Amino acid sequence: MPELPEVETIVRDIRPALVGRQLGRVSLSHDDILRGVTRRRLLRGLRGSTVQSVFRRAKHAVLDFGERRLVVQPGMTGSLIVYDRALRADEARYAVLRARLDDGRELVYRDVRRIGKLLLLDPRGWTRYTEAIGPEPLAPDFTPERLGETLRGSRQAIKKVIMDQRHLAGVGNIYANEALFAAGIDPSKAAHRLTPDQHRRLHAELQRILRAAIASSGTTVRDYRTGTGQSGTFQLELLAYGREGESCRRCGTRLTGTHAIDGRITVFCHRCQS
Ligand SMILES: [Zn+2]
Repeated sequence: MPELPEVETIVRDIRPALVGRQLGRVSLSHDDILRGVTRRRLLRGLRGSTVQSVFRRAKHAVLDFGERRLVVQPGMTGSLIVYDRALRADEARYAVLRARLDDGRELVYRDVRRIGKLLLLDPRGWTRYTEAIGPEPLAPDFTPERLGETLRGSRQAIKKVIMDQRHLAGVGNIYANEALFAAGIDPSKAAHRLTPDQHRRLHAELQRILRAAIASSGTTVRDYRTGTGQSGTFQLELLAYGREGESCRRCGTRLTGTHAIDGRITVFCHRCQS
């Protein structure tokens, strides 16, 4: 699933093409990606609306139409692209939502497996949605102390806690693995047992890695594409994720891969991380 840097990249790419544009004809190929909104209400709500702003919350792209907000939660295979040409047959085949813009371009949400979600929220729905999600790790008010407060309240594995969207927004498996490796913290360690020094290190590494990944337009392992249809390049800089069995870049030990913590692949160095 695209994480914070990937969705931030998509949002930055599509924003200039969308802000101020009015949507014309809107079509939806399948209803199964809608959450809390019917096809009828979605199409009616979008047609004729003007995009006020485009931003990211957690791992989701948000198109703000003033009275309503469209929240796009791209699944593994989801991408949001603005085309200035007609779609090729293979692009049109998996285009789930298509919206014609008033300058002739087309906004497309494409999703091969359709495990993404679309929400259309009124102001009350938006408040409920955003209040259920934790702080943004790159926001100025996200401090090491705030991270520490969250971690002190949980006995779960630190990796699970930083991936839990109620505690922290936007971090998924790739960046949790990377940040814990960089901070030298054992991913299975109970969150409440981290020291203030570890809070500071983890906070610093989370921010550094997320920023570096945004600068590289995100990580493309398989399907993720930027808002212009390109691959990201941060996969070239990963030190933990995808490197199980390979040698630790810091100490040369073979990196361990396990599914024991949260069912997802966790890669760590048992010498460097404690
Ligand atoms: Zn090591």
